[in-house]
Amino acid sequence: MIDRLQELGREALEEIKQADSVKALESVRVKYLGKKGPITEVLRGMGQLSEEERPKVGQKANDVREEIKEKLEEKTEQLEKAAIDEKLKAESIDITLPGREVKQGARHPLTAVVEEIEDIFVGLGFQVTKGPEVETDQYNFEKLNLPAEHPARDMQDSFYVTTDMLLRTQTSPVQARTMETFEGQGPVKIVCPGKVYRRDDDDATHSHQFMQIEGLYVDKNVQMSDLKGVLEAFVQKYFGADRSIRLRPSFFPFTEPSVEVDVSCGICGGKGCRVCKYSGWIEVLGAGMIHPNVLEMSGFDPEIYTGFAFGMGVERFAMLKYGIDDIRHFYTNDIRFLNQFKRA
Ligand SMILES: [Zn+2]
Repeated sequence: MIDRLQELGREALEEIKQADSVKALESVRVKYLGKKGPITEVLRGMGQLSEEERPKVGQKANDVREEIKEKLEEKTEQLEKAAIDEKLKAESIDITLPGREVKQGARHPLTAVVEEIEDIFVGLGFQVTKGPEVETDQYNFEKLNLPAEHPARDMQDSFYVTTDMLLRTQTSPVQARTMETFEGQGPVKIVCPGKVYRRDDDDATHSHQFMQIEGLYVDKNVQMSDLKGVLEAFVQKYFGADRSIRLRPSFFPFTEPSVEVDVSCGICGGKGCRVCKYSGWIEVLGAGMIHPNVLEMSGFDPEIYTGFAFGMGVERFAMLKYGIDDIRHFYTNDIRFLNQFKRA
């Protein structure tokens, strides 16, 4: 009987060893330790044993039972731990993979340049104003001293909505619109950035849509020297303190006298190079003292008030600052181009 118990013990331990799931272990437990199991069976036959043998067999049966129980518990724990390990392994994050890039947007270079120029003029006491892009002939031309049939109109052919409504060819109409709201009382000190349109054939330096920033200062005793001082301060802030400006006589219908403003070349320092076409200077904007007719048409008495105005192309300022060689880059929205301005 003791040998039989010994044998059962070995069989049970072997089956526990082979079990590969908690469920399999449970059936081993039922098989050996259950009420209908072989060990119980053996103990039932104890009645036939002698007084002497009985405690020995009882002891052995208990030992075998305990051992089976112990091994079952051990193995159950082992299997449960393995299951957890397996689960953790399946759910773990592989930290050796490179992270996913967070796509960073960028301001369009023209927006960045407009904001930079606005900031400079705000620092000089100017206010930023805006005006409509669809403009009347009255504001786009007439009020700027450009009556119908004026030859200078030929340089600014536009897109007409009706015979007297068009996409504005310049930001200058905002001058007249703003001056009117002041009802003849200065000072008026504004810059107005915005999109303008001309019926031009697109090439490396021309675009049918581009941006301008217009500036205007009207007050008592505003002089040409004020214009020069403001523009020099602006140019040195934008291009660098080592740059200087020069004024060349020019013609605009809405200013008298009128000037073209050149900035000294930053590449050659004025000695002459390819960028400045060997002149040492680069043309950047047009300006002048506001024509008395323009002041009068906008409700200001030219006997009391004087003023200056200037206008610049935003693309030109961006191209000069960032060394861009084709104006069309600004409008084709090529991500490879735009990506270069993430920190601009
Ligand atoms: Zn140069």
